[in-house]
Amino acid sequence: MGRIPEDIINEIRDRADMLQVVGDYVQLKKAGANYKACCPFHSEKTPSFNVNPAQGFFKCFGCGEGGNIFTFLMKIEGWSFPEAVQHLAKRVGVDVPETSDEESEAARRKAQARALYHDILETARRWYERQLWQGEDPVGRDYLAERGIDEETARAFGLGYAPNAWTEVLSYLGTRKINAELVERAGLAIRGGRSGFYDRFRGRVMFPVIDIWGKTLAFGGRRVFDDDEKAGAKYINSPETRFYRKGSELYGLAATKQGIRSAGHAVLVEGNFDVIALHAQGIRNAVSPMGTALTERQVKLLSRYSKHVFVAFDGDDAGRAAVIKSLPALVRQGFDARVVEMPPGEDPDSFVRGRGMEAWERALGQARPIVAYALDEVMGRVEGAPIEVRVQALSEAGELLEHVTEEIAWRHYAQEVSRRLEIPLKQLGGYLKHPERLREQERRERQARRQQVAAAMGQDPAPRRPEARPEAPRRPEAGQEPQESARHDAPLPEFLSAPELRVQPKPLPIAEARLLQVLSDLPGRLVEFVDENGCRLLSDERLVVLIERVYAQHLETERPPEYARLAEEFSQEHGDPDLFSQVSALLCAERPYNDETIERTYSEIVITLQLGWLEQEERALLEIERSVVPGSQEEMDALIRRQETIKLRRELDLQYQRKRQRATG
Ligand SMILES: [Zn+2]
Repeated sequence: MGRIPEDIINEIRDRADMLQVVGDYVQLKKAGANYKACCPFHSEKTPSFNVNPAQGFFKCFGCGEGGNIFTFLMKIEGWSFPEAVQHLAKRVGVDVPETSDEESEAARRKAQARALYHDILETARRWYERQLWQGEDPVGRDYLAERGIDEETARAFGLGYAPNAWTEVLSYLGTRKINAELVERAGLAIRGGRSGFYDRFRGRVMFPVIDIWGKTLAFGGRRVFDDDEKAGAKYINSPETRFYRKGSELYGLAATKQGIRSAGHAVLVEGNFDVIALHAQGIRNAVSPMGTALTERQVKLLSRYSKHVFVAFDGDDAGRAAVIKSLPALVRQGFDARVVEMPPGEDPDSFVRGRGMEAWERALGQARPIVAYALDEVMGRVEGAPIEVRVQALSEAGELLEHVTEEIAWRHYAQEVSRRLEIPLKQLGGYLKHPERLREQERRERQARRQQVAAAMGQDPAPRRPEARPEAPRRPEAGQEPQESARHDAPLPEFLSAPELRVQPKPLPIAEARLLQVLSDLPGRLVEFVDENGCRLLSDERLVVLIERVYAQHLETERPPEYARLAEEFSQEHGDPDLFSQVSALLCAERPYNDETIERTYSEIVITLQLGWLEQEERALLEIERSVVPGSQEEMDALIRRQETIKLRRELDLQYQRKRQRATG
C-alpha cells in the first residue's frame, strides 16, 4: 500500500468545485476573475481572503495562509491530507483505494477511529429513522403529527425514534459487528444494568446533529412519554466524545444553510424542535445552539453563511437571560444581531402557528439591535430603585458595552445609560470603559505577548511602536556603536513586518508578475507566448522555468495550465517557498484589468517586455561591436542579433504609431 495515486488526486481536484467547497465556510463575493471573503483563518472586517477558482487556489493577504482545495480543508477542519482527499472524494464521487500513506501511525489510527465513530452514528441514525417510520411503536410518529411536523420536514432533518426499551440500539449495532464498548464510546449506550450496557436514548424522538459534510456527530433526544417521570429529562443530548465537542455545532445548519444564504439572514432559536417546527411552516433558515449558551465557535460557523441574525428565544426569563448571554460572541464577531421579542409564554413555533406569517414578518421588522435590547433589560429595573440596584445595573451595562468597539455606537449607548441613571456621563468613567481605552489595553497585552515570544526565541523584541516600549530609551554605553541604539529606538514602519513580504526576498518584476496573471486568465495565450519565444523576454529565471513547465504539462496532459500547482512543485524541489508564495499571491490578487481590457493589457505587457529586452540587447550589442574582430564568426553573430533588434524596433515603432492614431483618431 502506498500513497494515493497522483491521477486520482488530480481527478478529485478537477471534479471538486472550489467555490462550493470554500463557500461552505465563507461568504464569497465575485471580484473580477477571483472571489473574495473575510478570512476564516484570522479575524478581519474587510475581506483579504481571495480564491482563484480557475487555478483552484486561495490566498489570504492578511495572514498569509494560502494553498489548494486540500490544504484549505486540512487547515479549516484539522484533517490530515489523506482525510481531506477521502472527504472530497466522497463528495465528488471518486473512489480512493485504501492507503497507508507515509503519515504517522498515530495520525492514521486517529483518522480510522474518527471514520468508525461517524460510521457507528450514521448506522444508528438510519436505524432510528426506520424505527420512526416503520417501527411497531407509533408514539414517535404520533408525537410529530400532533406537533404539525410532516414527513418531508422530518426526513430533511433525519429525525428518528428510539424505542422505549433498554438494549434495542445495542443489539441492532451488535448484529452489525459493533460491540457494546464502541457503542458506549460513541455516546449511544451507558455502562451499567444487568447486561453491562443499556441504551442512552429510550422512548425519545431523535434529532441527529449533522455537520455540513453530512456526517452524523451526535444526537439530541426529546422525551415523548410526558407522564413518565422515570424517563428522565425532557431533552437529553449525546455526551462529549473524542470527536464531538458541545458548542461546536449549530443544530439544523446542514439543512438550513442554503435557506440562510438565500434569505440573507438566519433565525437563532433556543431548541432543536423550534428549528424543525419553523421549517415545517416555511421558515427555512433557523438554527439552534442546542441548549448551550451560544459559543464563539458557533457564531463563527454561522458567519460563513450570514452575519445577519434574528435572535428569537422563548418569551420567558430563561429566554431573555439566554439572549444576553449570546451577546458577546455575536457582537465581537461583528454580527448585525437583532432580537425578536416573543410575547410572554410563547416560543417562535407557537407564535407563527398562532398568529401567522404576517405577524412573524412584522416581528422581524420590529426587532431591536441586541445591544439596545440587552441594555434595556439591564436598565429596565433602575427607575426609582435603591442605589445598590442602580450600581449593580451600571456595572452590568459596563460589561455589555465592553463588547461594543464601534465608537459612535458606544457613545450612543453610554449616553443612554447616563440618561436613565440621571448621572452625567463624565462621572461614569470608572464603569463604562471607552473603546479607545479597551483598544489601548489590548495593544498592551499584544505587545506583552510579542515580547514573551521574542524572549523565548532569544531575540530582541524590537517593538514596533515607540510608546509601547516598556523601558526608557537606552543611552549608548561606552564603546557601543551609537547607530545600534538609534536603530533600536526608531519605530519600524508597519509594512516591514507584514508577513506576506517576509517571504519575498526577490519580487518578480512588475511586468512579469502581470504577465503571469494575464496568462493564467487567458489560458489560450500560453502556447502562443512560449512558441513565439516569449520566455527570452523574461528576466526572472524561476519564472521562465515555471512557464515552460506549465506549457509542457499543458500540451502533454491537455489539462488547463496549472501555474499554482507547478509553482508549488518548483518551490518544493528547490526548498524555497518564495516563488510559490509569490505566484499564489499573484493568482489570487485583484486584477488591474477586466474581461474587456484583458487582451489590450496582454499586448501592452508583451510590448513592455519587448522594449525592456530590446534596450538590454542593444546595450550588450554595442559592447560586442566595439571589440569584435572584423570578418570573424563573432561579428556575424552580432550582425544577426543586430538585425533582430532592428526588426523588433521597427515593429514596436509601428505598434506605437498605430496606437497613437487610434488615440487621436
Ligand atoms: Zn487570513
